[in-house]
Amino acid sequence: MALLEIKNLSVKIGDKQILKNVNLSVEKGETHVLMGPNGAGKSTLGNVIMGNENYEVTEGSIIYKGIDITETSVTERAKNGIFLSFQNPIEVPGITLSNFIRNAKDEVEGQKNRIWAFRKELEAKMKLLNMDKEYADRDLNVGFSGGEKKKAEILQMLMLNPVLAILDETDSGLDVDAVRTVSEGVKDFQEKGEGAMIIITHSTRILDALNVDKTHILVNGTIVRSGDSSLVSEINEGGFEKYLEQ
Ligand code: ADP
Ligand code: MG
Repeated sequence: MALLEIKNLSVKIGDKQILKNVNLSVEKGETHVLMGPNGAGKSTLGNVIMGNENYEVTEGSIIYKGIDITETSVTERAKNGIFLSFQNPIEVPGITLSNFIRNAKDEVEGQKNRIWAFRKELEAKMKLLNMDKEYADRDLNVGFSGGEKKKAEILQMLMLNPVLAILDETDSGLDVDAVRTVSEGVKDFQEKGEGAMIIITHSTRILDALNVDKTHILVNGTIVRSGDSSLVSEINEGGFEKYLEQ
């Protein structure tokens, strides 16, 4: 049984049809890459898997761990191990990075994390991500650079240890060093071998250190092609042009 089985999924925002009959199957521990031109619907797919209520599923279903979760809430999905790192992380004044992650972890794990053990783990992961530990006590993303916001997302992922992580352009807008650091964080997660990932990206840089099991090309709300990791380099060289013409 696949960990995630998306069947014939069609999604609307307002009156606009964004996704059309998407099928996608992810096995436990697999890493999938989702590529496609801007506006294709990649972030929409990530948001719908996470359960964002702004999107209306008009057809099809999302089966996770064998259960139809199409109608369940974001909170329920998070508790069940689904995690989405946002393309544009929001700033949250009044709550520190540390408290934000601890609350999320308490909620997902259904128990209170003890502060000292939590901080120790948090600081170890921050070190791995080359983040100054002073950031733990700053308000979430407030005044963080683009790269620091993306690192904060990966930090959350490492602390929550999801079963299915969706990374939405976690590597976009980062300098070379930040991409390497973020990539190391993602690799750390992959090497534990428990979590599956769907990585939405335009570049191969974040993928260099990772094992990619499957690649999907999303154009105009439809998956037009799926393949193995070689599809990433094919797209890198030839772009999406030939898929746009179809
Ligand atoms: P991608 O991540 O592949 O660039 P998105 O999923 O963000 O694409 O967007 C797909 C399409 O849906 C785009 O045409 C975009 O303008 C539209 N869209 C996304 N979010 C909204 C929204 N909240 N309201 C209206 N249209 C939206
Ligand atoms: Mg997007």
